[in-house]
Amino acid sequence: MSKLDDQSLVLVTTLKCNLNCSHCQVRKTNRSMNLETASRAASLFLEGKNNRSVRPLIRFFGGEPLLNFGLVKGLVARLGKKAKKADFNLTTNGLLLDKKIADYLKKFPNFEIIISSSYSKIFDDDEFIKNISRLPLMTVNINLLPDNMRQSKDLFSELRKKGFRRFNFLPAYYTDWSEKSISSLRDNFKVIEKEIKSHPDGIQVKNIKSFSPVPLFNMSPVIDPEGDVYFGNFFLDKRFSGWRKELKLGNIQNTNDWKSIVQFPLEFDFDFLFKRTFSRQILDSTRKVDRALSDFVDKISSL
Ligand code: SF4
Repeated sequence: MSKLDDQSLVLVTTLKCNLNCSHCQVRKTNRSMNLETASRAASLFLEGKNNRSVRPLIRFFGGEPLLNFGLVKGLVARLGKKAKKADFNLTTNGLLLDKKIADYLKKFPNFEIIISSSYSKIFDDDEFIKNISRLPLMTVNINLLPDNMRQSKDLFSELRKKGFRRFNFLPAYYTDWSEKSISSLRDNFKVIEKEIKSHPDGIQVKNIKSFSPVPLFNMSPVIDPEGDVYFGNFFLDKRFSGWRKELKLGNIQNTNDWKSIVQFPLEFDFDFLFKRTFSRQILDSTRKVDRALSDFVDKISSL
């Protein structure tokens, strides 16, 4: 029996996106979540009895969540005082992050914005840099792809020099990495480690504090735009679309309390799921890439 991680709740605010990244595996559609669904899920999550050892975390996922930013604002307003007792994060490609959104977010020290480097050209835009420098809590996800090794190392260096301090490193998982590209990934990490060592200046590597038993995916309750509750975010990935039925736990509208969500029984063998979905070569690449990341994180933690 697999166990849900109920320290956080993931809301899929929309399945639309304004980019079309070559490595994207999200099953994009035109569906977006409405405020009633978000509000019901968040209230059950925040009010439910639980064994949380940390502050509850509500995460906004997409597609591109800023395409439905009205929902985020509406939910925070509706939660009122309860919003102060939770943490929030939102992962975005940054294209829509303008002054208006930055001015709204700067009022919330408990709201982390995670900007993906999928569209790295955005970091050349001075207006964008000015807007995000207003944010109280901001992390850059450095995406590492087999064919952009050089770019990711240079991007880290460039952003550090521009004053960015919080980073998360995200290699592409479940894709084919040649031995040469894995070795280049390790070289890349060495260069980044050296740079952090010589310029610690308050650099934080978020990977040090995060852990998932399965690379890339989370094991949290994830609510889709229709209010369906899923075990983890696997179902958002096109490669797992055939398993939606098995991964679905119920619907938020038919649920009366948080306990009945986290206690939904799920007999599921994730090992089996991965072996059925990916070739041995891809799983092997993923293990090696994850090992390279763990070695890097261990070295950074000991600095
Ligand atoms: S920004 Fe994210 S959701 Fe949008 S296309 Fe790129 S990877 Fe996919």
